[in-house]
Amino acid sequence: MGPADTGPSESEWARALDALARAERPLLICHVNPDGDALGSMLAVALGLSRLGRPCQASFPGPFTLPPLFDGMPGRELLTPAPEVDPTPDLVVTFDAGNAERLGELAARFFPVADDVVVLDHHASNTFFGTVHLVDAGAAATAVLADELLRRLGVPLDAEIAECLYVGVATDTGSFKYKATTPAVHGLAARLLDTGIQPDVISRRLFDTRPFGALGLFGAALERARLDPTAPGGLVWTYATQDDLARHGQTYDALESLIDIVRTAGEADVACVLKELDTGEWAVSMRSKGDVDVARVAVALGGGGHRYAAGFTGTGTAESVFAQVRAQL
Ligand code: AMP
Ligand code: MN
Ligand code: MN
Repeated sequence: MGPADTGPSESEWARALDALARAERPLLICHVNPDGDALGSMLAVALGLSRLGRPCQASFPGPFTLPPLFDGMPGRELLTPAPEVDPTPDLVVTFDAGNAERLGELAARFFPVADDVVVLDHHASNTFFGTVHLVDAGAAATAVLADELLRRLGVPLDAEIAECLYVGVATDTGSFKYKATTPAVHGLAARLLDTGIQPDVISRRLFDTRPFGALGLFGAALERARLDPTAPGGLVWTYATQDDLARHGQTYDALESLIDIVRTAGEADVACVLKELDTGEWAVSMRSKGDVDVARVAVALGGGGHRYAAGFTGTGTAESVFAQVRAQL
C-alpha cells in the first residue's frame, strides 16, 4: 500500500474515527523541529478534541522550544513537554511525519503502548508506519487532512482552529504560491477566513518578520552562494554555520527562510541550503522549480520530503555534503 493521490479510503477514515472514539488517553505528536504544518495541524485537532470535551495531550520530540513565529499560536497551552507526557496513551495520532524517525524518541516510547497509531500525513515518501493511515500525497498540507478529520468528528470551525489550519496550509504552500495550491486549497482558505481570522497578521508573523541581525546573517550566506550551471536545470547552493549564527547574534531558526531567497536565482531550477546544527551535522534543505524530484535526492541520502521541497541530515564538510547532492542529481 502506498500513499495514493486520491487520499484515504472511506474504510480508513472509519477506522480512524473508531480509534478516536474508543481512545480514553489520546496522544498527538508531530515531527521534530515542528514547522507551521506540523504544529498547526496537530493543535487544530487538539483544540477540536477539547471542544468535544475530550482530553488529549500534544507534544513533539527533541528540544521543547518553538521559534518566536509561533508565539501567538492558538492551542499552544495544550502542548506538554515530551518527558512529562502520560506514559500510557491508548492512542497515538501523528502529524506531518513521513516516517517514524521524524518522531524521534516518541515513536519507540509510545507506539508499543498504544492500541492504535493513526498517521495523518501528506508525504509521498510516507512509510506507513502506523496502524491506520490518513495519508494523501496529493494534499497540499497535513492541515488539509486535519480539516477533513475535524469535519468528520463534527467539530465546527472556530477562529482558533481556523488559525491553526491556516498556518499549516499557508506554510506548506509557501503562502499559496506553490503548485499544490489547488482550487480546493483556496476553498479551504476561504472557509478559514470566514471565521474572522486575520491573514495579514498571520502572514506577517509567519513570513515577513525577522530580527534585524538576521539581515546580516543572510547577507553572509548569500554572499557565498554559488551557481552550478552544469547541474541538470542549474543549481544554486550555499551554507550557514554555527559561527555565522554566533557572529550575527542569531539562533538556528533564523535560517528557516534562507532557502526562499536562495531559490529566487532564475538560472537555477534546484536550490540547496546547508544549515549547520549544533551537533556539527548539516540540515540540508532542497527546493525544485521543475523537473528535478528533490524528494528522490533526499530519500537517497537518508531524508525525505516532497517533489518540490525535501531535506536530509548530512555529515562532513559543507563541500562534501554538497558533492553528495550534486552526485545524486
Ligand atoms: P525544510 O527544507 O526543512 O523546509 O524541509 C522541506 C521538507 O523536507 C519538509 O517538509 C520535510 O518533509 C522534508 N525533510 C526535511 N528534512 C528532513 C529529514 N531530515 N528527514 C526527512 N524529511 C525531511
Ligand atoms: Mn513539516
Ligand atoms: Mn507538511
